Amino acid sequence: MSRQVSILGAGLVGSLLSVILKKKGHEVTLYERRPDMRTASGYAGRSINLAMSARGWKGLELAGLREDLEAIAIPMYGRQLHMPDGSQAYQSYSKNNEAIYSVSRGELNKRLMTLAEQNGVSIKFEHKCSNVDVANNKLNFSLPDGSTQAVQADLLFGADGAFSALRQSYTHMDKVNCSQNYLEYGYKELNIPAGKDGEMMMEKNALHIWPRGNYMMIALPNTDNTFTCTMFMPFEGPNSFEKLKTEAEVKAFFDEKFGDAVPLMPTLIEDFFTNPTSSLITTHIMPWHYKDKSALIGDAAHAIVPFYGQGMNAGFEDCTILSGLMDVHGEDWTTILNEYERKRKPNGDAVAALALQNFVEMRDKVGDTAFLERKKIEKE
Ligand code: FAD
Repeated sequence: MSRQVSILGAGLVGSLLSVILKKKGHEVTLYERRPDMRTASGYAGRSINLAMSARGWKGLELAGLREDLEAIAIPMYGRQLHMPDGSQAYQSYSKNNEAIYSVSRGELNKRLMTLAEQNGVSIKFEHKCSNVDVANNKLNFSLPDGSTQAVQADLLFGADGAFSALRQSYTHMDKVNCSQNYLEYGYKELNIPAGKDGEMMMEKNALHIWPRGNYMMIALPNTDNTFTCTMFMPFEGPNSFEKLKTEAEVKAFFDEKFGDAVPLMPTLIEDFFTNPTSSLITTHIMPWHYKDKSALIGDAAHAIVPFYGQGMNAGFEDCTILSGLMDVHGEDWTTILNEYERKRKPNGDAVAALALQNFVEMRDKVGDTAFLERKKIEKE
């Protein structure tokens, strides 16, 4: 018997999950806090582009969206390192010409929403879930006019991101372990526009990194020949956001630390003071599900720091695994959700730990290795 499925969050994971569930014959309603991003304008909130890897592609394949997305994905075959002395070095990701792909977050989310609607999923925008009565599967929403709405769910998925209302509601239950840890680092997005003839100003097929010890900047290519840079640095301390309060401080810092990038960043000062400085969080929770009634998925289950480029990819893999379990166990949702948690929770923990480790590698160790290799080559 098919279920009436409610999904909180029409982000990347919720939208993909809705398509998969609908294709398997369930009735699906997505509840999204924000207005429809396909018609509303404004800052999408987080990274403009994302690195998609094999795990992510597999999830999109299930939805039938892989080919569509491949057309707007830019392969990045390695890291292009920008050293403090202005020199550059390249590190290939693979010996077999494999790549990770730079994809627009907004475009991916919009296409997933449209595909969901084309398949018959109903999306209710501007429905912010305030809390869930987990035992009774009752959802409470606040609406833009200040009114509230209660909805009885049959099967519920919380795909509502790092600050999930369902996750929060789980924490009120007995024997639930959960944690959230903020990193002492923040991030800010900056831009490298296309050149005056519309050309790209750096190597297109690479993920650019400026490793600087305890902080770094990265840049991923976009299809309009721009790059989106993300600066990661401590909130406080010697090289930190708190030390960059004035235009003169920002300019002097970038001139000294990112000398080769500054000429490519004509809007640096404007971007720096316009774009927010955002925080980074890791969350853990156990259990991930409640009986055959509800489960967490994506960042709601495992929010991780972005340094391994695997948050969305891991969320898409949650969908792939869930889909496989539905194929094996049919409508036995007690088994499906038990197995889903058993298989995915250790992976969520592992990718969270790897993501934290990879920050040290990206901001520090890649630079060391490259430097040594470059020196070796120069001597030969
Ligand atoms: P979200 O994308 O957070 O979507 C949740 C949705 O739920 C949103 O639409 C939100 O509006 C909605 N919502 C929230 N609360 C409620 C509520 N109470 N009621 C209703 N709706 C609600 N991952 C990668 O794989 N590769 C990368 O290169 C990468 N780069 C990143 C760079 C940065 C700077 C950051 C911060 C993250 C990056 N990630 C990356 C991680 C990735 O962004 C997340 O893992 C991914 O967005 C998770 O998708 P999600 O759908 O689970 O959650």
